[in-house]
Amino acid sequence: MISFEEASAITQSFALPSGTENVTLFEALNKTLAQDICSDIAMPPFNKSAMDGYACRKSDLRNPLMVIEEIGAGTIPAKSVGENQCARIMTGAMVPDGADIVIMKEDVEEINPATIRFTGENPRANICYKGEDVKEGENVLKKGDLILPAQIAILASVGCTQPLVYKTPSVAIISTGDELVEPAEKPGISKIRNSNSYQLAAQVQQLGITPDYLGIIQDDEATLKKVVAETLGKYDITIISGGVSVGDFDFVPKILKELAVNIRVHGMNVRPGKHLLFGEKANHFIFGMPGNPVSSFVQFAILVRPFLNTLMGSTKVGTFLRLPIAEEYTRKKGDLLIFVPVTLTKEGTVLPLEYHGSAHIHAYTLANGIMEIPKGISIIRKGELVCVRPL
Ligand code: AMP
Ligand code: MG
Repeated sequence: MISFEEASAITQSFALPSGTENVTLFEALNKTLAQDICSDIAMPPFNKSAMDGYACRKSDLRNPLMVIEEIGAGTIPAKSVGENQCARIMTGAMVPDGADIVIMKEDVEEINPATIRFTGENPRANICYKGEDVKEGENVLKKGDLILPAQIAILASVGCTQPLVYKTPSVAIISTGDELVEPAEKPGISKIRNSNSYQLAAQVQQLGITPDYLGIIQDDEATLKKVVAETLGKYDITIISGGVSVGDFDFVPKILKELAVNIRVHGMNVRPGKHLLFGEKANHFIFGMPGNPVSSFVQFAILVRPFLNTLMGSTKVGTFLRLPIAEEYTRKKGDLLIFVPVTLTKEGTVLPLEYHGSAHIHAYTLANGIMEIPKGISIIRKGELVCVRPL
């Protein structure tokens, strides 16, 4: 059986972006830039006052200053500030020629309506200088950057209203299992509620993709084959929950083979999620997620999400933290790589949560990270560094 790392490398090798499109700034969130962005202006675009106050010459601060004009944000100063003169200025307004400091309104005393005096100490310039944040023509964002709110601010600031981004794939979600009922129903004896469809859809939505949920399919080979065949023609990615392990009713691997899907990963030496399946056929991708709620949750977070990130053009995939563990962690056997739910504490340590195994999805409602315990390690002493993927 292959390792998790090998399985990740195989899936990643198929994650090639499929085309680009221009989107509006309201559509750009969570997409990845397919172009470098340069600024068409300097930022700030002019020497800008950082305070409400008076623009004057630093060398005149001991003297009474004559107020020669008032400059609001968005207006152009009419006069240049001379010796023992000042201009009343608002935050965000252009600093007039001749002035090299803006003294705060709070540090000023009015002698008469046309004259003021500086009463403060240790004056600061309070000027944001032209181009100090970004020079004209400077590269501000790179191809492969994920667009989050700060990037949207920059796109807007440089006038890029239709950024070129990588296309978002279409995703279908199916759950299989005769034991499943939808959440609105109270499960009868031997039944359980379908949580995976909604959990997987939510994880897909977190990537800015709106998936289509196609419902519960019974463990019936013919029906499942028909539905999967349809999704292969219609969607870029099909995510199937359940039916991928070795039980008599786990039909997913068999029907995929019949549909001429190339199965590239089926099973890996990891817990949870040992039976994960990945297949591809002519640029359509299928993930068979193990039905156990934690298995499908964790494998989406650590394997499917990075696949989708790369497929959507991102060059920075996954965040890993190495932090000290808050208390000793032991396990009976260290025979395989495992992932366990943890809390990242305020003290900057990693606290493993009480966790009963791959059906215990409730443990993940308390978690904000997934800790990796490598193969061969069965004891981690307090304070030793562990690898965590934040959730
Ligand atoms: P399977 O992978 O189909 O063998 O399912 C493994 C376990 O996961 C069984 O205990 C199932 O009842 C449970 N399970 C399967 N599908 C779901 C689902 N959609 N939501 C919640 N639990 C599920
Ligand atoms: Mg099943």
